[in-house]
Amino acid sequence: MSDKTPKYITTTLPYVNSKPHIGFATELVRADTFARYQKLLGHEVFLNTGTDEHGQKIYDKAKEEGIDTQEFVDGLAEEFKNLLPELGILPEAHFIRTTDEHHIKAAQEMWRRCKEKGDIYKAEHEVKYCKGCELEKTDSELEDGKCPLHPNNDIEIREEENYFFRFSKYQEPLLKLYAENPEFVVPDFRLNEIKRFVEGGLQDFSVSRLKSKMSWGVPVPDDEEHIMYVWFDALTNYISTTGWPEKEDFDGWWPGVQFAGKDNLRQQSAIWQAMLISAGIPNSTQVFVGGFINSGGQKMSKSLGNVISPNELTERYGREATRYLLLRHVHPFEDTDITWDRLDEWYTANLVNGLGNLTARIMKMAETHLDGPVNTKDINTMDIDALDNYQFQTVLDGVWAGIGAMDEYIAENEPFKVIKTDKEQAIEMIVKLVKDLHEIAESLVVFMPETAEIILQAIRENKKPENLFARLES
Ligand SMILES: [Zn+2]
Repeated sequence: MSDKTPKYITTTLPYVNSKPHIGFATELVRADTFARYQKLLGHEVFLNTGTDEHGQKIYDKAKEEGIDTQEFVDGLAEEFKNLLPELGILPEAHFIRTTDEHHIKAAQEMWRRCKEKGDIYKAEHEVKYCKGCELEKTDSELEDGKCPLHPNNDIEIREEENYFFRFSKYQEPLLKLYAENPEFVVPDFRLNEIKRFVEGGLQDFSVSRLKSKMSWGVPVPDDEEHIMYVWFDALTNYISTTGWPEKEDFDGWWPGVQFAGKDNLRQQSAIWQAMLISAGIPNSTQVFVGGFINSGGQKMSKSLGNVISPNELTERYGREATRYLLLRHVHPFEDTDITWDRLDEWYTANLVNGLGNLTARIMKMAETHLDGPVNTKDINTMDIDALDNYQFQTVLDGVWAGIGAMDEYIAENEPFKVIKTDKEQAIEMIVKLVKDLHEIAESLVVFMPETAEIILQAIRENKKPENLFARLES
């Protein structure tokens, strides 16, 4: 059981054509919590995140705003980078940008290896293309000739000579990968979804663009007329971040666990895996696929005015409460609907009146009636093994059930009254409560590291801490 192998954990890289999205913030907080959990188990951890900065959409957006493309992505990358401390992400997390020089070289090396394998070839073709997705669309993916995700955009028809990736060759290898690793994609209904997609037959797809049409991308090696398709370049970040290709052994960090959203299922669990097989590189160990976050029963969108951004969350609730809200109240696998009303309710009920109030009551009693700190040496911590299966919500439900039970214990036994008649018995109750609170705090270390530490320190010093969570102004 003393498996202390290094653990590599990565988010997907968000595309920087707009500001940070709550879906990405959730992915980041999950990956961070999972990384902290692995550290707690004694593993060395490499946590990767960053920004995906090439492609047509970014090129167009920068043009629209009348600024230099590099300048445009620099500004947005900064915003994404600032999100890390704002969400309490491990300070040692790697932040890779696909415009980094090293990454560009790595993407070119990936290209060379796939090409040497005979998996990249040139051909003429007509493409139906959704600019919203940055993806070519097959007829079966269109509804009334439109992309169902971007019904307001017209599908573009493009005739051009491109390089293609021989994706069709990877149907069997991918199916074999899934069959041999039944937990390769979690949850299993997403594994079934990708299996069905691959079983349906794979089409080669274009992996280059004519530079004359759009120059914002990684140059194709040995062909000045083409740049790489944005997905092909961006996916390589998961290994370029470890120092590949100079470090052919990835310094021991690859393969690893990839966190993704369901809109990334195909890229992460099929396209990227086919590229790895083609280049002779080990496949990812596992791909975790989360659901979407909607608001008021609809997908968040500017036009509906129902967007809830990560920055608004941290402004209103603070860093630790934001982590709590995303980890406990967003389902790890299914779609989740949130509204400001509901977030306020959860915050007030579970943090202000829940954990915050409980901590204050217990530590006030402890400070007043105990001679010194409670000995917490031999306290077992709660079981958080469910994190092995990314059950963030389940673990936190368990912690809050514990908090509820402690509130009940205080209400039933009234130690604050008993202290007047039977001091010894009251002190026993208070010591028990402090020990239970210690257990709660220990269980929260990977979810809400700062809050957990404040509580643990209060117990060490036998002193009531400052208010953990401010009441919302009404
Ligand atoms: Zn689309």
